[in-house]
Amino acid sequence: MNPSYDAIVIGAGVMGASIAYNLSQRGLRVLILERQSIAVGATGASSGLVRMHYDVEVDSALAWESFHFFKNWRERIGGECGFTRTGFLQIVSPDKNEQLRGNVTMQQRLGILTELVTATEVKKIAPMFKTDDFELAAYEPESGYADPTSATNSFITTAKACGSVLIQDCEVIEIRVNRGKVIGVDSSRGAFDAPIVVNCAGTFADRIGRMVDVEIPLDTWSHDVAFVKRPSKVGMHPTVIDDVLSMYFRTEGELTLIGLEDYNRMGEPLESDLGRVDPEFVMRAIDRICERVDGMEAGSLHSTHVGRDGLTPDQRAIIDQAGPDGFYVACGFSGTGFKLSPAVGVCMSELILDGSAKFVNISSLNLNRFARGELIQGEHSYGHIWK
Ligand SMILES: Cc1cc2nc3c(=O)[nH]c(=O)nc-3n(C[C@H](O)[C@H](O)[C@H](O)COP(=O)(O)OP(=O)(O)OC[C@H]3O[C@@H](n4cnc5c(N)ncnc54)[C@H](O)[C@@H]3O)c2cc1C
Repeated sequence: MNPSYDAIVIGAGVMGASIAYNLSQRGLRVLILERQSIAVGATGASSGLVRMHYDVEVDSALAWESFHFFKNWRERIGGECGFTRTGFLQIVSPDKNEQLRGNVTMQQRLGILTELVTATEVKKIAPMFKTDDFELAAYEPESGYADPTSATNSFITTAKACGSVLIQDCEVIEIRVNRGKVIGVDSSRGAFDAPIVVNCAGTFADRIGRMVDVEIPLDTWSHDVAFVKRPSKVGMHPTVIDDVLSMYFRTEGELTLIGLEDYNRMGEPLESDLGRVDPEFVMRAIDRICERVDGMEAGSLHSTHVGRDGLTPDQRAIIDQAGPDGFYVACGFSGTGFKLSPAVGVCMSELILDGSAKFVNISSLNLNRFARGELIQGEHSYGHIWK
């Protein structure tokens, strides 16, 4: 007899953790299998931005529902998520002012705390910013960033307190199916039985899908991040996505974290070493932060790291049932999934236990859209996030 559970979640990144937590809250005994260790994948490298500004409504809705968890993490999940309110600015180039207006209107309709601000108002919010190359921005006064590893740990700690089990250093190598229904998995630590298997394997989700003949169109997205020591005269600044300079940045204590929207490496082999950041990236990141923030020339490079996430053709997630009965997929979060993770967990638990998600309508994030050629695009699209 193999050890038996109500559900098996593959992957202990923030998505697997959130889904396991939510299933355990609904009374299921969940087994989480992780080939390495908690948050070793995209989650552990994540920049942790928590904001609601997107050009696709389902992303804004998932981010908004998740935001309530980030703000009240200890009461709702237990433990810590490191949420830090900094305020968030989405700066766009003037040719995207109309899209910005449309997206802020869409977000306000969802109840999101966001407003349009002029460059002059941005200067009041962040006096250290140079504001002569844009006209408008969106401002979310309550947004900021959180700590993905702490969030993952607290989801798993609470799931374990409800009877769920985590096994690390345990790679799923096969999914067992009988008469069109999932019955369990084979792993590097033996076989486990469950009628539900959730694929949260991040960049490896395509490999897991193929075990049950489910094709998941997933590429890898490798992303460099730099931390710069901020000169003290610059002071604390908001979290920003800066479309003009293709950059995002936020504070981390006395440091500023910087990532770029362009020059990301797509399609690196799954098993390849993440290695070091591209030296050209460091030069670009420093040049751009100096272009936006007065006084940053006196800063110094502190550290860098690289992370990798699964990227879909439309750079939007896949949250769906697919293949044999009992097989579910939550992957392809395309470099923006952390802030969505609390709501994704609720939605997946509803999809599994109630047949559809009510918390947020995630039907557009279905897997078949790729085969049908119906890629997701916002009504007021900014184009692809990552170039
Ligand atoms: C550098 C970087 C910066 C980012 N910045 C942000 C940000 O600012 N804001 C934001 O919202 N999002 C951000 N993201 C995106 C976000 O971090 C990811 O979308 C999210 O963490 C994905 O979580 P996940 O659980 O799906 O994947 P992962 O964290 O990659 O977890 C998947 C897990 O599955 C395990 N696994 C794989 N195969 C198997 C197997 N066969 N058996 C068992 N286990 C297996 C892996 O070891 C891994 O631990 C960023 C991502 C990166 C890389």
